[in-house]
Amino acid sequence: MTAPTSTAAAPGTAAGEAARRRTFAVISHPDAGKSTLTEALALHARAITSAGAVHGKGDRRGVTSDWMEMERARGISVTSAVLQFDYRGRVLNLLDTPGHADFSEDTYRVLAAVDCAVMLIDAAKGLEEQTRKLFDVCRHRGIPVITFINKWDRPGRDALELLDEIEREFRLRPTPVTWPVGIAGHMRGLADAREPGTMLRCTRAPGGEKAAIEEALTAAVAEAEFGEEWRTATEELELLAGTGAAHDQADFLAGRSTPVFFGAALTNIGVRLLLDAVVDLAPAPAPREQAGGAAPRPLDGEFSGLVFKVQANMDRAHRDRIAFLRVCSGVFERGMTVTRAASGRPFSTKYAHSVFGQDRTSVERAYPGDVVGLVNATALRVGDTLYTGRKAEFPPMPTFAPEHFAIVRPADIAKSKQFRRGIAQLDEEGVVQVLVSDARGEQAPVLAAVGPMQFDVVRHRMEHEFSAAVKLEPLAYTCARRTDAEGGAALNRSRLVHGEAMTRVKDGEILALFPSRWHVGSFEREFPRSPLEPLIAAH
Ligand code: GDP
Repeated sequence: MTAPTSTAAAPGTAAGEAARRRTFAVISHPDAGKSTLTEALALHARAITSAGAVHGKGDRRGVTSDWMEMERARGISVTSAVLQFDYRGRVLNLLDTPGHADFSEDTYRVLAAVDCAVMLIDAAKGLEEQTRKLFDVCRHRGIPVITFINKWDRPGRDALELLDEIEREFRLRPTPVTWPVGIAGHMRGLADAREPGTMLRCTRAPGGEKAAIEEALTAAVAEAEFGEEWRTATEELELLAGTGAAHDQADFLAGRSTPVFFGAALTNIGVRLLLDAVVDLAPAPAPREQAGGAAPRPLDGEFSGLVFKVQANMDRAHRDRIAFLRVCSGVFERGMTVTRAASGRPFSTKYAHSVFGQDRTSVERAYPGDVVGLVNATALRVGDTLYTGRKAEFPPMPTFAPEHFAIVRPADIAKSKQFRRGIAQLDEEGVVQVLVSDARGEQAPVLAAVGPMQFDVVRHRMEHEFSAAVKLEPLAYTCARRTDAEGGAALNRSRLVHGEAMTRVKDGEILALFPSRWHVGSFEREFPRSPLEPLIAAH
């Protein structure tokens, strides 16, 4: 007789493998050092052999599509890549978020697929606009945040002042785990709040492409070598300890506090400690909430996954469409047939890849927390749930309030067919939202975007991918609210309030568009009975 064994965390089972995984993203303002940090993290995990090879802005060998060229020309990362690496017996999945200043919904969607975020802050700049927006999304989604204050090798702001800013502006209690010895620009090393009285001296490795050299010093040695700087660091840490700034795991997971680390991604200082924090503090994948209050499917249950991004033509040679799937429960095996919850139709996963930077390799098996790229995924949409066995369905992805609107027309009327096909596809992918109104007709759809950069992407892809160049005519609306048919009709007939109601093609929602918030107020006063519901604000 075999003894009953618990499989709850056994290696090779979905739950056991999930427990080994950490799926996270780095959120930051452009130029804070996200690419540099990603490379530094991967370097520690030996996922790459030299800095600059992950998705560095300099090195894009083998990348051929126009899509990538556009990224390169702008020096931005538009696509979402996933980097998977092993570290200390764990499997880390680092999802890349688009880093451009302009905003699209992509970032939000990526954040729907992670369990934790690393908030990267430039020591000289503190909290910046994009950091604020992304932090709001994390808070909204209940994603715990680890903070890394970067570029401490350069002159910057005072450490206490930076913590104060986080606390004041984000109502988030910073709990420093490491503390810099030496002010920004004079980095001597790091004190560790968990081991008072010890210092880690960090020196840049020759060439800068290797992990920093770390050396543990006793308080006596630190005092002898760094005197005043060491004393200041320990005093500040004591001061913080006295104000209740110790890390508390429950508070962190609940989004009330953030463990803070200091360092310099460029010289690889403090990066290992950050990576350790991802392993030790970030939560492993947990059973995911389902739509309609259905019980979360256990990690060890049947397979389920969430499509959080769909990208067309990542690789020109393949002319394909790739859907990024996060495994939420069970084991994904390449070739398995899954069901798409939205249609009840089967989908074959014969062409499943892991997506490492821009390279692809076939993936045979994936566990909760992993990301799989499904190629030829014409039938899949962002927000789709895929499952085997009993039906699973995750709550719909939030759609964000668009703030930019433009009428789109084909530049060449003879290309109307390509035009319609292209616009429909970009809508499905979620590159933009497409609205139609009775007054303008379906021939003149209106594009709605969270940030104007999305329009550039539409222009580019319509011309190069669908051979249907477009003309865009901006509309002077900036506010969108959800309403019902009656509210829409009221807005369209109002003589007092400037605005227009349109239907969002994707889900049939009626959106009321206004030039300003002031007009929203006027409409509410004129038609107090018509509902106007705010959409999730991206700003
Ligand atoms: P991203 O736009 O957030 O991906 O930022 P990058 O990683 O491209 O970094 C922006 C600039 O900051 C680059 O010139 C980097 O070399 C530089 N940088 C990044 N991290 C550090 C750092 O720790 N120290 C210093 N001095 N520069 C850094």
